[in-house]
Amino acid sequence: MTLSPLELPAADVDWRGWAQAHTARLFDAFRASVAALKDGTERSASEVLALWNDGDIAIGDVAAASELLSEVHPDAAVRTLFEESARTADQLATQRQQDQELFALLSGLDGGELGDEAARRLSRVLRDFRLAGAHLSDEDRAEVASLDDRITELSQEFSRNIRDDVRSVRLAPERLAGLPADWIAAHPVDDDGLVTVTTDYPDVVPFRTYATDADARRELTVASQNRAWPANDEMLAQLLELRARKAELLGFASWAELDAQTKMTGSAAAIEEFIARLHETVAPQAEADYAELLAALREEDPEAESVDFSANMHALELVRRSRLDVDTQLARRYLDIAKVRQGLLDVTSRLFGLAFTAVPDAPVWHAEVFAYDVAQDGAPLGRIYLDLHPRDGKFKHAAAFGLQQGVADRQLASAALPCNFNRGALLHSEVVTLFHEFGHLVHQLVASRHEFAALGGISTEWDFVEAPSQMLEEWAWDADVLQTFATDDDGVPIPRELVERMRAANAFGRGQFVARQAYYTALSYFLHRDRPADRTACARALQAEYDVLAPLPDDHSYASFGHLTGYSSAYYTYMWSKVIAADLFTAFDRDDMFDTSVSHRYRDLVLAPGGTKDAANLVEDFLGRPYAFGAFGDWLAGR
Ligand SMILES: [Zn+2]
Repeated sequence: MTLSPLELPAADVDWRGWAQAHTARLFDAFRASVAALKDGTERSASEVLALWNDGDIAIGDVAAASELLSEVHPDAAVRTLFEESARTADQLATQRQQDQELFALLSGLDGGELGDEAARRLSRVLRDFRLAGAHLSDEDRAEVASLDDRITELSQEFSRNIRDDVRSVRLAPERLAGLPADWIAAHPVDDDGLVTVTTDYPDVVPFRTYATDADARRELTVASQNRAWPANDEMLAQLLELRARKAELLGFASWAELDAQTKMTGSAAAIEEFIARLHETVAPQAEADYAELLAALREEDPEAESVDFSANMHALELVRRSRLDVDTQLARRYLDIAKVRQGLLDVTSRLFGLAFTAVPDAPVWHAEVFAYDVAQDGAPLGRIYLDLHPRDGKFKHAAAFGLQQGVADRQLASAALPCNFNRGALLHSEVVTLFHEFGHLVHQLVASRHEFAALGGISTEWDFVEAPSQMLEEWAWDADVLQTFATDDDGVPIPRELVERMRAANAFGRGQFVARQAYYTALSYFLHRDRPADRTACARALQAEYDVLAPLPDDHSYASFGHLTGYSSAYYTYMWSKVIAADLFTAFDRDDMFDTSVSHRYRDLVLAPGGTKDAANLVEDFLGRPYAFGAFGDWLAGR
């Protein structure tokens, strides 16, 4: 049987009609699978799971298409249609997971005859029933549902308060010293002879990096660190209580314990242990970085007594300039977008044994989108779309999205990469982002041939899913790799010596950075564990313990820590997956980044299994031992 990728409508076809028909077909398929499960027919465990899988495929596909197209389609009406179908998909999936009749049916199955993957799928479905409260009394289930609603509402309000609260300071023009000329030109002096600087990123990041007036930097940073405060303080207190109550109803000792059930850590204790380990590993390097940052700051300002959050970015810039001599603009002339795009495909093709074939006549949602068919050893895996440039109404960041899940012998995968790069030359940091996000697409495609949709693609644990992409970033930092595509207009490749200086600049300050991350990680976890009455005091104590920077006076930045909604107690995942990424990379030869005997083994043992095995086992299969902290320590020290 020949499988083809999802056919999108051609440019002249009515997308609204297609969106309605596509989502309606999938919703019908989902409802049909639920109805069949409930039709009273006597079925074996594998027959029941096959029907459940039909539902997973339908609802997963509608969710994927909706999440992508609601973010990228140029027609606002199509985006709205897909926003609605995303919500419906979410509601239907939750209803199925709380359905008493289905819970009784699935928990009564005899799974003795099932193969490994089917048995794993069944145990996941049963786990998800419990996490959704399907085993509770009607009264408790109703309370869980109302808690979920209230948590969603509060989370949205918490995020909105952060987004909407833009603060500003007004400064005399001479206090802008050190900032780039174009930035100063964009900030004219008002009638009172003052310049307004806001807490939005395009203002605050350059200001913290370049401004030489320490008091002005501190004034703006304090304003920025007080966004959404005090409004979000009470909001956070309620959110922590509601989460704790939900965990209690579901029979878990804490919210963190409940949240860890679907992750590699598996328990609150493992998260606590990780935080302690991270702290211990980073402390010496963080102290060394701090000393160097303070020394650099004192060269400019002999009065400087400490480095706090209003001074660290500027001190870092001073070190880069004086000790490492790196200008971020220098690399751009070698990083033309068209060459980078082709280079990315060539590098990953070589590394993972994949063929990318441009499909210029494939229907796409916008004329700037490139489509490629992907095959491995001659077998088609699916289609990917690169949508790299900004436009009105489009997603504002860079991320990988699914469009259709791949399922063995049934359908090919489709996935897309919406980014916001300019159309000319990229910054090197953008090339790193591109490699990172493309790593998620590769993972999606390589793991697209499993029987159970919910075990395929990037359905691995959430605290592991970043590791493969974090590791792939290393290829964007290698001179041999870069020289295969990064050439200037005359065809001269990026100089090796420039890449080495960029690497050194990138490596400096990791200790200070990770110590800050350890503080955020501890904050995310301990706020949930302790639910302190005085959140400001709690945040201060944690900052003093984990962060190497001096305290910033009047700092309430936990009120604008947006990840407390999405990640809740699990902000640790960033550093957790980085520890694993660094360890995975030890299996590769840094002098021969294209050694396919390693990269193909990695593809087959770590990426291809998707979610069919625990991530810890995938890593152990590849490394021949459990993952360890050592490589992360080397990465921290820039080795
Ligand atoms: Zn990522």
